[in-house]
Amino acid sequence: MDGLPGRSGFARDKCGVAGIAAPEGIAPALYQMLRAVQHRGQESAGIATYDDGLQTIKGMGLVENVFQAKELERLTGKVGLGHTRYSTTGSSRLENAHPVCVSSAEGSIALGHNGDIVNSDQIRASLQESGWAFITENDSEVIVRLFANQLSKADSPVAAMRSVMGEIVGAYSLVLLVGDKLLAVRDPRGIKPLALGKLPDTYNPAGTPASEDGYGGGYVVASETVAIEALGGKVVRDVEPGEIVEITPTMIASHRGRPSEELAHCMFEYVYFSRADSVIDGREVYDVRVRLGEQLAKEAPVEADVVVPVPDSGRSHALGFARGGGLPMAEGLMKNRYVHRTFIMPDQEDRASGVRIKLNPVKSIVEGKRVVLVDDSIVRGTTMNRLVEMLREAGAQEVHVRIGCPPIKAPCYLGIDMNTREELIAADKSMDEIRDVVGADSLAYVSIDGLDIAIDKEGDSLCKGCLTGRYPVPVPGEVHRKQQTLF
Ligand code: SF4
Repeated sequence: MDGLPGRSGFARDKCGVAGIAAPEGIAPALYQMLRAVQHRGQESAGIATYDDGLQTIKGMGLVENVFQAKELERLTGKVGLGHTRYSTTGSSRLENAHPVCVSSAEGSIALGHNGDIVNSDQIRASLQESGWAFITENDSEVIVRLFANQLSKADSPVAAMRSVMGEIVGAYSLVLLVGDKLLAVRDPRGIKPLALGKLPDTYNPAGTPASEDGYGGGYVVASETVAIEALGGKVVRDVEPGEIVEITPTMIASHRGRPSEELAHCMFEYVYFSRADSVIDGREVYDVRVRLGEQLAKEAPVEADVVVPVPDSGRSHALGFARGGGLPMAEGLMKNRYVHRTFIMPDQEDRASGVRIKLNPVKSIVEGKRVVLVDDSIVRGTTMNRLVEMLREAGAQEVHVRIGCPPIKAPCYLGIDMNTREELIAADKSMDEIRDVVGADSLAYVSIDGLDIAIDKEGDSLCKGCLTGRYPVPVPGEVHRKQQTLF
């Protein structure tokens, strides 16, 4: 995902996180890691390192614009963390950018968070009653202040984090700097991804004796494995649901923060958010997307001449659909790679014209053809409608839309910016009504069973709250997935 057009709506992931502990080169490494997870948030970016005190740089915009090479030089030390953000809670302002830093009796603390805490309002209110003041509106500050509060009572940062995990409910993959220690934490349901890796020896040039495997340069954690690979690192494993990993340049220790609960990996990470070359909880995202396309071809075949992906989001799904349906695939829509972020345009008309600037049909591929247009998901439907229109204007005889994610019917409260049912075309419309809105000759989504098959995990180990309206954690006013319903 790059926040570019090519998706039929405006869902936005909250964040990418990265953490590092290494003898040398941590600021440039964090910079590279943040670039690798830039797709997870383009609103702001920040890095904090510890070297006898916290040093932080954060700013609005893309990673390459926030950090200048000269400035990075002042981020010294052997442990650090970084963050790219798109807001789902808290508005788009610099004070909401991560890392969120606070001072405590035990020293400075910096936090980067991916996810959403569903009970943050209650915790905030109770901390405020005890005299705590908050600077930002975001739920991540609630976590860090709660942590600071616990740290003053606990005998170690790990014990303090354990207490915090007993209070917060929701999705959280965290990186924290507590003095010269890095903590990496994943919520007990493993909703958001977090991977652990080792750095090559080049990050520890003075290292003696030489490491056995060439990866004695220190440790890294990141939202996605691609950020570890960007450093030439070796992915070791996923941080386990409910685990706290304590890291210094020379030591790594695993602690159980909370008992692992019923798993709920976000299915949308596989469908759309993560980079296709990432591996999440043992499944390669690219492979899942191709399988989704193949499954879709099985479930909703169509007589057609050519399969056209919506670039870039629908490319792997389209490949699977073409393969599964025995159809040729061709790049019938071209993207202008230098235009960014349609989704911030304030009204729908702007959004639609934004689509036109970013995507353009290739006439020779679609003219006179029965086209299958494949994308990963539809959120609002406005972009898809514009794409179908464009293909017809370019001479397509028929346009059949196939979508590699089941209909998104309910909001996400766990870190994805799909806030209300009103924003979701599938919340209250039948398949025929949606087809009419997008203007296609036919429309089909992959089924929820098909999604389970493609991701190849036990269906119950996935969060599908936005598909089913049944959430893995208790959300006020919504149905918990363990709850019985009458329909
Ligand atoms: S509700 Fe949907 S988008 Fe949100 S965490 Fe669950 S699967 Fe992911």
